[in-house]
Amino acid sequence: MRIEVLGAYGGESPGCRMTCLRINDRIALDAGSLSSALPIEEQVGIHSILITHSHMDHTTSLPFFTENVFGKIDRAIDVYTSAATSYAMRRHLFNNDTWPDFTRLPNHLLPVVRFHDLEEGVPAILDGVSFTPIEVSHTIPTFGFVIEHHGRAVVWSSDTGPTQRLWEVANRTPGLAAVCLETSFDNAYQEIADLSLHLTPRTLERELEKLDKKVPVLLHHLKPPCAERIREEVRALGNPDVDFLEQGRVYEF
Ligand SMILES: [Zn+2]
Ligand SMILES: [Zn+2]
Repeated sequence: MRIEVLGAYGGESPGCRMTCLRINDRIALDAGSLSSALPIEEQVGIHSILITHSHMDHTTSLPFFTENVFGKIDRAIDVYTSAATSYAMRRHLFNNDTWPDFTRLPNHLLPVVRFHDLEEGVPAILDGVSFTPIEVSHTIPTFGFVIEHHGRAVVWSSDTGPTQRLWEVANRTPGLAAVCLETSFDNAYQEIADLSLHLTPRTLERELEKLDKKVPVLLHHLKPPCAERIREEVRALGNPDVDFLEQGRVYEF
């Protein structure tokens, strides 16, 4: 499968775009930077969007993306996420106060945005790619995903603190090619990371002890002010399997 990293950060500053992947051209995973990373002609090609959770760094481009493709596509944009996340996005984003309710526009029978609820452990097959949602440990309901295509699998988590189930699933997933995991803060922000359920290089090192397989671990969701220190502290761990997801790069798994 082809995974293009449109946004690799957990915040925004020049050169740092927020969490967003494009998978096999037509699927997006999280929508932190869909409208800023892609030209409009390419945004029009995105049919399905999976959302891990409702925090803004994962959803904020969806209203602008919707406006960019509105009138250029003859189908709904299908958004796949948990019932809790779709509820939060309808209530706080597409609520006619923050942004027009595109789940009922131009009319409720043929809306521009259509939400589909995902359940933990039940795969969604989109364009032949399987996405199995796994609950991770964040401050609000949040899914990681096992992404599988042609016998190759990538375990992906955006925001999570120390967690368990993701690792159990990773350890029994056949054809595991990589694990992508967040590291949001450097070690000086340990207390904030613990309270907000994110990882630092220190807690990342403990998490990696739960992984039985030797596969590349690619880090992302760095908070821009912490990015340089995180890179230094991760390098100091001396783990040759750990690297950073590179924004703008296309990975083939
Ligand atoms: Zn985030
Ligand atoms: Zn979050």
